[in-house]
Amino acid sequence: DPRLQAISEAIRVVPHFPKPGIMFQDITTLLLDHKAFKDTVDIFIDRYRDMSISVVAGVEARGFMFGPSIALAIGAKFVPLRKPKKLPGEVISEDYELEYGTDRLEMHVGAVQSGERAVVVDDLVATGGTLSAAIKLLERAGAEVVECACVIGVPEMIK
Ligand code: 5GP
Repeated sequence: DPRLQAISEAIRVVPHFPKPGIMFQDITTLLLDHKAFKDTVDIFIDRYRDMSISVVAGVEARGFMFGPSIALAIGAKFVPLRKPKKLPGEVISEDYELEYGTDRLEMHVGAVQSGERAVVVDDLVATGGTLSAAIKLLERAGAEVVECACVIGVPEMIK
């Protein structure tokens, strides 16, 4: 796809953030570039528009920057998957492993109905731990996770 080169170039790489040795992929520079941002979202819209998807679930925080635009364009709802203690209603939660320690994603009970077809959106997949927790949450609610959509893949980080 000829759009991918410009999208890739619009993502800034920040060495040693948030700690020494990490090459941080910064998508905020992609958001500043209207064409590259729109092309990114359009690629996902083109892929998902005819797949009977009724749920786009975004992972806090950077999944919130791409997910709602995709949801609106394909006629789906947007479901935020949030860090602990952010959602005010009743939640289900999934813990997942980080390099040091654990983290948790939460989803509102009732946000997704059994049998709905879902796509999970985040900016980047590394180990896949975050997306695995997101998939489990949706599946526990009875949804079918058709695919995960990430802007950036970092295969060399997969352990
Ligand atoms: P994983 O769970 O697949 O190991 O890590 C993916 C999660 O970490 C995503 O939620 C992603 O936002 C975040 N993440 C890890 N490294 C980076 C990075 O270099 N840039 C950005 N934007 N997010 C990162």
